[in-house]
Amino acid sequence: MRIAIDGPAGSGKSTVAKLVARDLNFVYIDTGAMYRALALKAHSLKIEFSDESPMVELMNHTYFSLSENGITLDGRFLGEEIRTREVSMLSSNIARYPYVRAYLTEQQRSLSRQGNVVMEGRDIGTIVLPDAELKIFLTASIEERARRRYAELIASLKEVDYESVLREMKARDLNDSSRELAPLKPAKDAIRLDTTGLSISEVVEKVAAMARKRQRVLLSKSVGFCYGVDRAVNEAIKILKSGKSVFATGEIVHNEAVMKNLKDLGLEIIEDISSYDRVDGIAIIRAHGIDPGSEKRLREVFTGVIDLTCPIVYNVFSLAVDLQARGSFVVVFGKRNHPEVTALSGRLERYLIVEPGEDYSSVVDRLKAIERIAVVSQTTMSTDDFKDFSSFLEEELGDRVEIHNTICRITVERESEARRLACEADTVIVVGGKNSSNTKKLLDIVGRLGKRAIHVQTTGDLPQGELGRTGLISGTSTPYDQIQKILDYIDNEREVTDNGRETGTAR
Ligand code: SF4
Repeated sequence: MRIAIDGPAGSGKSTVAKLVARDLNFVYIDTGAMYRALALKAHSLKIEFSDESPMVELMNHTYFSLSENGITLDGRFLGEEIRTREVSMLSSNIARYPYVRAYLTEQQRSLSRQGNVVMEGRDIGTIVLPDAELKIFLTASIEERARRRYAELIASLKEVDYESVLREMKARDLNDSSRELAPLKPAKDAIRLDTTGLSISEVVEKVAAMARKRQRVLLSKSVGFCYGVDRAVNEAIKILKSGKSVFATGEIVHNEAVMKNLKDLGLEIIEDISSYDRVDGIAIIRAHGIDPGSEKRLREVFTGVIDLTCPIVYNVFSLAVDLQARGSFVVVFGKRNHPEVTALSGRLERYLIVEPGEDYSSVVDRLKAIERIAVVSQTTMSTDDFKDFSSFLEEELGDRVEIHNTICRITVERESEARRLACEADTVIVVGGKNSSNTKKLLDIVGRLGKRAIHVQTTGDLPQGELGRTGLISGTSTPYDQIQKILDYIDNEREVTDNGRETGTAR
């Protein structure tokens, strides 16, 4: 579920958004922090914000992602370093560039598709998330907002008088509502909530109650596409819509409905690269990556190649190559035929692939004569399986083994949410493609905890009858709209429009 909170200055939207997220166990997306973090990254690399080409290059190699504790940039949490006065000035400066705003808006949309989120700002319900399931437009009388601002300034020992704060507030309102780029206005289907005379906790209670009314199912904190899949699918759609012929190195995502949509747009899957001669078209390398030999061949055959390898996967490739260069024999814990493992092993000269549940004693026998061993994992393996294997190796081979847990944090969080839902619900619906291995892993976790796990792709897969307290989670290859359809179907007490939102709420 996505909650968009907009409103004028002084309406209390940041405080309310943070507290609502905490109350509902959702993730609060601090959009301002994203501007600050990007500004700091560019500034540290001495890139001028006005220099579009290096900025675009930088943004192409920057990724924001959701974690239990908020947003990460390139896999690292945003800390106090972005809260300085200098970064604040850099961020207002960077926000003036339309290409930066466009990039960050896309990133914010991508984050909103990765879980249950609360996002606040001045154009969230109208521009950033026009299809959010719940939109709130917080407001309060201008006098009340000026009083709040005045109290804040006094508390921070600033010398001000109420009348000048009121005057500034009026000027800002006029500026915000009349500017050309994303003027401040409520979305048509937003619920307008006047907070004049209400305490913060009363406002939070009201918003959280509205969200609960729409959410009758216990939802995993993180659902929908993961970052890597979202990026690959959306880029593929963009290129397909540009009218070019597009070819992919395999299924971009293990989800039948999404793949059908892509194929309907014209995507072709490369079954055997050796059967192609020269092709006037774009080849897309999907999020799993590809081995260097096949990439070379792609570049010989196609007029253009776009590498959409997930940056997290790419980091594992680089780590493994680096470990080998430093003299280690690399053990890859993963599925032999998984494309990510093929792409990784294609970069290595000496390696061993070990699958979960193999006879680990015989693996140890094969490694006994080797002086230095490094273990990495396919990014989507189960953490429990990886721990079992790596602990076994450490016990048997001691400090000759260096363990690198390279399992993607997003998949780890989904596993932990599957466990939580299994503890709290009677039935857990797992939404995902029938051939999606990370979906199967979630089903397995719920089943192992003795709860009913139902694998669902569409509403037609939902069983008849009572499900009891129901939880819902999805694999990382499930788009958010599939989840919303299922939620709407279950939630039959709610009046919804075709796109899943309540009707007639704008006032
Ligand atoms: S699950 Fe895989 S593709 Fe998705 S973000 Fe993690 S590493 Fe990238």
